[in-house]
Amino acid sequence: MKCPRYGRRIRKLVGAATKKKNAFYECPKCRKKSVKRISYALWKCNSCNAKIAGGAYSLSTPGGETARRMLAKEETGE
Ligand SMILES: [Zn+2]
Repeated sequence: MKCPRYGRRIRKLVGAATKKKNAFYECPKCRKKSVKRISYALWKCNSCNAKIAGGAYSLSTPGGETARRMLAKEETGE
């Protein structure tokens, strides 16, 4: 019974990814759930107006590391 369980889990993940497009995210700066996607891979916090470069469909990419790396790059002011 491993296969049906696995399939359900993947379907759940896909559904979550679709939902993420319009969801609010926690701001890494002010910790409020006010971050919204404003354009491709660009996110903005409605509370402190911070702009965050993240994943195209969610603030954190499945690995999480890509978004964090991009953030660090922005903060050092390249
Ligand atoms: Zn904020």
